[in-house]
Amino acid sequence: MASLVWFRRDLRTTDHPALLAAAAGEGHVHAVVVFTPETWREHGVGANQLTLLCRRAQSLRVELNELGIPLHAVHADTFAATPSALLALAEEIGADRLHHGFEHEVDERERDEAVRLAFENAGKRVHAHHTQTLLPPDAVQTGTGGPYKVFTPYKRSVLKQLTAEGDLVAGLRPEQQAKPCEAIGSIPDAIEGAGTTVELGAFDLGEKEALAGLDAFLAERGAQYEAQRNFPAVAGTSALGVAFALGTLSPRTAYVHALRRLTSHPNEAKGLDTWISELVWRDFYRHVLFHFPRVCMNRPFDLSTEAVEWRNNEDEFQAWCEGRTGYPLVDAAQRCLVATGWMHNRLRMVTAQFLTKHLLVDWRWGERFFAQHLVDYDFASNNGGWQWSSSTGTDAAPYFRVFNPISQSEKFDSDGTFIRKWVPELAELRGKDLHDPSRIAPLLRSDLDYPELIVEQKFGRQRAIDAFKTARASL
Ligand SMILES: Cc1cc2nc3c(=O)[nH]c(=O)nc-3n(C[C@H](O)[C@H](O)[C@H](O)COP(=O)(O)OP(=O)(O)OC[C@H]3O[C@@H](n4cnc5c(N)ncnc54)[C@H](O)[C@@H]3O)c2cc1C
Repeated sequence: MASLVWFRRDLRTTDHPALLAAAAGEGHVHAVVVFTPETWREHGVGANQLTLLCRRAQSLRVELNELGIPLHAVHADTFAATPSALLALAEEIGADRLHHGFEHEVDERERDEAVRLAFENAGKRVHAHHTQTLLPPDAVQTGTGGPYKVFTPYKRSVLKQLTAEGDLVAGLRPEQQAKPCEAIGSIPDAIEGAGTTVELGAFDLGEKEALAGLDAFLAERGAQYEAQRNFPAVAGTSALGVAFALGTLSPRTAYVHALRRLTSHPNEAKGLDTWISELVWRDFYRHVLFHFPRVCMNRPFDLSTEAVEWRNNEDEFQAWCEGRTGYPLVDAAQRCLVATGWMHNRLRMVTAQFLTKHLLVDWRWGERFFAQHLVDYDFASNNGGWQWSSSTGTDAAPYFRVFNPISQSEKFDSDGTFIRKWVPELAELRGKDLHDPSRIAPLLRSDLDYPELIVEQKFGRQRAIDAFKTARASL
């Protein structure tokens, strides 16, 4: 008899509880990835990430092969077709057990339940393990036994529990086995019909490169993370989002490595503690969607915001998408996203607030646009980030605190390096003019090939505050 490990967004061989459990059991270990392009497209996952997912599955096949584990590829198109396709493979290779990691989104949970039933009806066992988070979303509870809705006490509770668990399983990998058969099924270079023109090489990390990237970040930039993480022109963050989103890197491994660095370099605590907090934010948004599944179903966490009357002007949305709002930092951010598939966290907040507040466009439009483009797209973090920015989420920015895109620009790109790179038509401007070209005399401004302000800053801000106030008053 044999066991089958189903890899999803946990595409790694190290610190993988499902793989370790399979290896600890009897018989050969096989592995599988299931391609469901139709459902992924329905979920709005874009070509950039789907291409990276294919490439990562290809490199995982090589890494597992070194351990004597064949990585099979099943092409099922949809979640609905997954149970029978997976079961057919299990029959073909003689597997009587299936191991997989938990996925917490609603459709994924339904799919997993259908797979469990299909396997159990065929007399096979299914074991689910936690592979994607620091702690299982239901393992962290308030004093009264409910889920957390506020980040800071949640973080305290997570860190306390992690400390109690000691050194976790970071670094563990299964022993090499004699390979039972060649891998079945081809792994494509990209998903058909989802071509990308973005250069993805820098994000195409295998497991060793992701681990090396983690250690290099912690040693070289971790200490300065708190001081430098807000400046888009500076490489102050880890840029490991893709590795976490596809599961090339385990968050528990990342946590343990950060903790070891902290223990050996206590003077770097300010930066390293802040970075660990970001890993906890990642868990927090999964905790929220696990306990409040409505956020997976296009609904806000804060139900009072369902009454907000979004303007949803399609031309304005298109101008935002293409970086033509007349606000240089917003435009630079959007152009960078479309050209590279990545955007700095500070800019994600600025541009998301601009869309949902100044333009009063529904946050779900922006959420979908980011999903289409981000290489590190992750449903929980993207949804959490959009609901934070639009003041519809749990522990979100209060609706009356609206980022001013010009002061954000002056503060976080003060010398304009980032803007000049992505909005070259403004490259010759200096000082305040670069952050706000609308202040330049109209005659001179007409020489710039750059749009007028899409909305006046103070007017847009007040309009958003009024819309949120009206929604609250209507309850
Ligand atoms: C509107 C909006 C949309 C976002 N969409 C996504 C998304 O689709 N996928 C995604 O991984 N993150 C998303 N984020 C969170 C954050 O912007 C990215 O995780 C971060 O920019 C990735 O860069 P990095 O790897 O250099 O992060 P670092 O700063 O080095 O942080 C390390 C890791 O911690 C996690 N992390 C950091 N910040 C956050 C956060 N605020 N929320 C949740 N996890 C975090 C990520 O896994 C990240 O890779 C979004 C934020 C906003 C405001």
